[in-house]
Amino acid sequence: MKLESYVSGEWKSGSGEGRVLVNPVTGAEIARADASGIGVAAAMVHAREVGGPALRSLGFAERGALLKAVAEVLGANRERYGQIARENSGNTETDAAVDIDGGIFTLKHYARIGKTLGDATMIVEDGRDQLARDPVFFGQHTWTTRPGVAVQINAFNFPSWGLWEKAAVAILAGVPCIAKPATATALLSHEMVRDVIAAGVLPEGALSLVCGGGEALLTSLGPMDSVAFTGSASTAATIRSTPSVLASGARLNVEADSVNATILGPDAAPGTAVFDLAVREAVKALSVKAGQLCTNIRRVFVPAEHAEAFGEAVAAKLSGLTVGDPADDAVRVGPLINRAQREDAEGKIARLAAECTEIARAPMDDWSPDTGFVAPRLMHCADPAGASAVHEIEVFGPCATLLPYDGMDSAVAMATAAEGSLALSLFSSDPEVQMQVVRDLGPWNGRILCVDEEVGKNHTGHSIVVPQCVHGGPGRAGGGEELGGLRGLRFHMQRTAIQGGPGLLDRIGAASVTAGL
Ligand code: NAP
Repeated sequence: MKLESYVSGEWKSGSGEGRVLVNPVTGAEIARADASGIGVAAAMVHAREVGGPALRSLGFAERGALLKAVAEVLGANRERYGQIARENSGNTETDAAVDIDGGIFTLKHYARIGKTLGDATMIVEDGRDQLARDPVFFGQHTWTTRPGVAVQINAFNFPSWGLWEKAAVAILAGVPCIAKPATATALLSHEMVRDVIAAGVLPEGALSLVCGGGEALLTSLGPMDSVAFTGSASTAATIRSTPSVLASGARLNVEADSVNATILGPDAAPGTAVFDLAVREAVKALSVKAGQLCTNIRRVFVPAEHAEAFGEAVAAKLSGLTVGDPADDAVRVGPLINRAQREDAEGKIARLAAECTEIARAPMDDWSPDTGFVAPRLMHCADPAGASAVHEIEVFGPCATLLPYDGMDSAVAMATAAEGSLALSLFSSDPEVQMQVVRDLGPWNGRILCVDEEVGKNHTGHSIVVPQCVHGGPGRAGGGEELGGLRGLRFHMQRTAIQGGPGLLDRIGAASVTAGL
């Protein structure tokens, strides 16, 4: 099977042989993808000139209704997507739910936001500033839709959620998108977009899909276009420095990798609720999606006096995890998405081993070297303050490291050694510890999950990105920001200070919805 791209209103096959997509349980080829010669530059023009005007002619509520219709098409095909996620990504049912249902949930969430915004096509911020002595001249900030195309380049670990969390926000803002899934797992994105296009629920040009290499997407950018990239820090660096990206003036949002941490506060002693909750979360980090989540816990800071008990508690749970073919219902951890990712993860674990030792590993059968299987494991770093690899290397698989600490100041200082992360979690019921983490680690993290006894099990998890909250992190994590309810629309709209008389501002107000972005 060769995956096609949907560009300029047509499904087109690339002229090259294409790169291979495999089933990571066997290593067998299941499809190929190639985008050479499909006419990416023409597709950008088509999206701008056909999709853009069609979306901008609709109000927010009508665009929200489009998103609802997309979610319904996907919901109707949900079962088939689960099977594809298993065959191309090695997903268990839980893994597939995070990706597929996460995408559908995000579409529905933005559909609801659209409904609340009504018929308006613009957003005004509340309040006017009087700019002259007489009340005849004011300033007011107005958000209008950028007449460009949103280029959306995604990572391999979320072929559904990555696609829809970006497309939902752009379409609600009135901007057409060209989505490019990572080639290795593009089959699910391909099938979903095929179903949505076949259902005819989106205006022509609102959504295009490029399956195969994405370099051509960066060559024809204009000043009203944007690039939202999710992937590794090294690809992000290439994209940031691409001359056509720099020259275009297009907006760029980067969601990159990070070495996220969780901290057990000094009060999180064995026997407390927060200790147990932290153990549960660490085991999830070593099993859900086989650890292939950008927000996943990679470093676990534990008070030195509780480190041994924590390691033993995680080890006990790991020993009961079943690793294997996700077609078997008893399996809790599937493979990484292919052999190359397994080799990458194993190479990085070997680098961690220079300053860490393995203290727990889930049992696993022997698998062929063509497959993606990596046994979940917990490492231990005896000297985390003197170590460097453990703060720098993101093993994109089921591996985390336990780092003992003495005193919160030390834990906070070591947490920053990752130079900026997507997500941090704290397991502590101590109000002072909570405030210290928020104040001192807020600048270093895009999201902080604080779990105390009151929150208990009612939290959404360290790794799960919810559409209500912003996603993205500073520094190494890319410095980007996505989602966050209405805040996500900022990337696709322009805030303009309109200076004029009250009559004009009233007319703008009548065509707009008042909201704070
Ligand atoms: P990657 O190798 O950096 O690739 C990401 C995407 O960029 C793919 O679609 C890839 O296409 C494309 N790409 C590569 N080179 C390009 C170029 N020169 N021009 C345009 N596009 C280009 O990352 P990955 O291996 O797919 O994903 C794993 C990484 O992503 C992990 O490090 C993880 O932490 C990170 N991640 C971050 C987030 C977040 O939200 N911050 C979410 C998920 C994953 P091809 O596949 O066709 O090469």
